[in-house]
Amino acid sequence: MDNHTLASLTKKVLKFRDDRNWAQFHTGKDVAMDLCVEAAEVLELFLWKQDDNVKMEKLQDEMGDVLYALLLLADHYRVDLAKALTDKIKKNEEKYPVEKFRNSNRKYNDQ
Ligand SMILES: [Mg+2]
Repeated sequence: MDNHTLASLTKKVLKFRDDRNWAQFHTGKDVAMDLCVEAAEVLELFLWKQDDNVKMEKLQDEMGDVLYALLLLADHYRVDLAKALTDKIKKNEEKYPVEKFRNSNRKYNDQ
């Protein structure tokens, strides 16, 4: 893959949307719903399968749809995704300290 940044990918997504004048249909609610629908389409690829084998082209397509929706949602609410991820990892590091959770799959609030 080329050296894309979140900013350059967002620009691409917005151009695709704006060339079609679709912003009029993209409320925060609808874009959030689209994100969940596209994530469900990723899950659907694994549905009823006995193993992790999946058609890679379809997985790539659906992951692209998820990122498309996420970038639109971030633009809509002016969320800096790099900051959001960095902040969330910091919160998770506090919630799941290595010394307590290394090799453990329990949730932080499980006894
Ligand atoms: Mg899709």
